[in-house]
Amino acid sequence: MSETYLQIIVILLIVLIIAILALIGSFAFMIFRRAEGKSTPSVPLPRSDSAQDKKHEENSRSEEVVREHNSSKPEKNPLAPAIGICFKHPEQIAVSACAICAQLLCENCVREHETLQFCPEHFEMFLNYKWVEIETVATTPQTPERGMYLYEFKERSWNDSGKPSYIMTHYKINVENDLIESYIKLYVREEDIQELKAKIRSS
Ligand SMILES: [Zn+2]
Ligand SMILES: [Zn+2]
Repeated sequence: MSETYLQIIVILLIVLIIAILALIGSFAFMIFRRAEGKSTPSVPLPRSDSAQDKKHEENSRSEEVVREHNSSKPEKNPLAPAIGICFKHPEQIAVSACAICAQLLCENCVREHETLQFCPEHFEMFLNYKWVEIETVATTPQTPERGMYLYEFKERSWNDSGKPSYIMTHYKINVENDLIESYIKLYVREEDIQELKAKIRSS
């Protein structure tokens, strides 16, 4: 009889020890989480605060996604307008802009050729015409503004006379002075060479 009683006490003690260990463990975990999140003293927070923390974590995670999105874009097209929505799909985030008409494009609408991106319509145009480079400007990181007039000219000739053109940038490392040179080249359709060359001279 007293042996059974002893057994019950031992079992209760074991249960108590396990409960205490679990409590210590969860406290340690909370402190660890706090220390990981911020470098403030590791005082366990009330429940509502840690819920806010969780929300904050989620927010910063979505910010990261947006940042990734932004950082991947300039590589593709350094002159693409700030991120917006697709010209055809208002529910889709734009990932690029057409090299000819500058419309913003979602992943489904963008057509790529090497480093160039086009809308579906102008990708067809790109494939169906012969394109010729009519102007090249060399710039360095110190003189990035040198090529600006080419971008302005491109935009003007598209908006004013509907003449399509696109710009390609080639990079070259000059080993002598260790400069990264870029060559900004304006391409137009073969049939527009004379007209646009004359316009770019007079601009
Ligand atoms: Zn286009
Ligand atoms: Zn789209």
